[in-house]
Amino acid sequence: MAESSFPAGADWARRAEQVIPGGLNSFSRYLGEPYGFARSSGAYVWDFDGNRYVDYHAAFGAIVLGHNDPDVDRAVAGALNPVDLVGIGITRPEVELAELVCAAIPSADQMICCTSGSEATFHAVRLSRAVTGRDLIVKVQGGYHGWHDAVARNVISPPELAYGMDPMSAGILPENLSSTLIAEFNDLTSLEELYTRHQDRIAAVIVEPIPHNVGALLPNPGHLEGLRKLTEAQGSLLIFDEVITGFRHALGGWQEISGVTPDLTSFGKAMGNGHPIAGLAGKAEHLRHFNSAGGSVLLAGTFTGHPTGCAAAVATITKLRDAEVFAHTAALGQRMRDGLTGIVDELGVPAQVRGYGSVFCLYFLEGEINGYRDLMRNDDVRYREFHRRMTDRGFLMLPMSLKRNHISFAHTEEDVDRTLDAAREVLRTLP
Ligand code: PMP
Repeated sequence: MAESSFPAGADWARRAEQVIPGGLNSFSRYLGEPYGFARSSGAYVWDFDGNRYVDYHAAFGAIVLGHNDPDVDRAVAGALNPVDLVGIGITRPEVELAELVCAAIPSADQMICCTSGSEATFHAVRLSRAVTGRDLIVKVQGGYHGWHDAVARNVISPPELAYGMDPMSAGILPENLSSTLIAEFNDLTSLEELYTRHQDRIAAVIVEPIPHNVGALLPNPGHLEGLRKLTEAQGSLLIFDEVITGFRHALGGWQEISGVTPDLTSFGKAMGNGHPIAGLAGKAEHLRHFNSAGGSVLLAGTFTGHPTGCAAAVATITKLRDAEVFAHTAALGQRMRDGLTGIVDELGVPAQVRGYGSVFCLYFLEGEINGYRDLMRNDDVRYREFHRRMTDRGFLMLPMSLKRNHISFAHTEEDVDRTLDAAREVLRTLP
């Protein structure tokens, strides 16, 4: 058998497989070679064997300033002094973070700290049920909101299963699955039909304002406004899941850009530039239902509001507010999207470039892209081959097709231009 060109990585992967199921702590981390990473800095990561990659995976978008941003690292290192975790009362970083978030996000009168995006959407769903006294939740096909049961119907299912029960996981009770209904993005009629069929039962509609979990489906003009009006008229809460869009597209998330204010907003990922911190924000009239405020909805967690996560988020949001992060990353995003579109057109590749701001993705399909149904025509095999060849050349992107890539504050025009050169070569020879 040929020697691996990643001997150190292969060694670690073998060790991992012995003690971690499948050798990975999340199913979506599978890459094959180069196995894993030992170092990161700015726009780059290095595998165990010392090869460098320009990183557009960015930990699924959590890295917005660049890896090991010195201001964030300093804040995290300093966070445990003078006090680490006491577990009772409050600490300064939690309060500072909540003040920053409430100042930044239009829908946020108040927020709770969580340790992951899944935890934030879990609370959003349960709180909506408690506030409205209703049982059903609507999610939008193509959206992902975490791994918990209430939202665990598939992100993108084969057509015959799309509106059936297509759980992301075994072990979920059927009643949990059937309590989550599915509407379509950019199609208000599909939601109106659900309201007709389930009168006075829908507690909330949860939606990624840009469904980035299937790349970058942009909302058609009026769509989010329509969602807002309809949910309000029907007495349901509208939850914007801004775990990806929040702190990436604007300080106030997509709600700042669109001018549409949801009732509840979940966020995570970019907020702490890679540190485990997330949150749920909303109107005080809703958040006061948590039992921390004398309400009846359980709010608990040993590590919620942990000083290192909060300090990371305070440092990240402060930098997002004060530095020209969004202008820089959006300009590079535009450069990347324009460059890729030019290459695709020039070579006649049946692909389309989409994205917004710092986000770009390549769909291997032709024709209109409006909703998730259109994405089913995507040529996954081609995407995976494109991805493999880009990785081989030192450009790291998300391995799953129909996902997006992320530019950080640390990327430069030169990084983008080198990426475009590599993409041209790969697309020219792609079978
Ligand atoms: N919501 C969205 C929109 C997400 O993209 C994700 C993670 N990909 C989540 C929620 C869940 O977040 P986490 O992985 O931190 O639990």
